[in-house]
Amino acid sequence: MYRTILLAYDGSPHAQKAAQIAGEEARVHAATLVIVYAYDPVPEWLGDPLFKEALARRITAAQKVVEEARDRVGEVPGLEVEVLEGPPASAILRVADAHKADLIVMGTRGLGGVAGTLLGSQSQKVVALAKAPVLLVR
Ligand code: ATP
Ligand code: MG
Repeated sequence: MYRTILLAYDGSPHAQKAAQIAGEEARVHAATLVIVYAYDPVPEWLGDPLFKEALARRITAAQKVVEEARDRVGEVPGLEVEVLEGPPASAILRVADAHKADLIVMGTRGLGGVAGTLLGSQSQKVVALAKAPVLLVR
């Protein structure tokens, strides 16, 4: 039985499928689902007011990504959302630890990546370092 499932979502087609599967698993196991999205840091050298404006735009965009994830997940017994700044794999691993996730669901590939690469760099890092089992969705 999984009690807490983490979904790493970047809006990519693989992550969209991962969202559907994470939602199904959460319903089957009556688990809480934690959606994680990490956005790129805003460079501090921009200075204010540019820094604050850019940060506000990033956060608004991040909220949209998370809303989309919620829609794809559907109704689940419990839902939490974590939007963090910085490298996705570290964000995913941090949130997995903080919430004691017992399953991590993510895509094999994301939005970036070089054609021909079998596994995205963030998926590779999470698979290598996570304490919980990782379900990679194609
Ligand atoms: P790379 O990032 O190495 O250029 P990629 O974008 O194809 O390649 P990954 O970034 O590893 O591959 O994406 C694999 C999965 O990791 C995605 O399907 C998603 O589940 C998760 N992921 C990637 N980026 C983020 C992010 N910013 N926030 C949350 N989850 C993410
Ligand atoms: Mg990526």
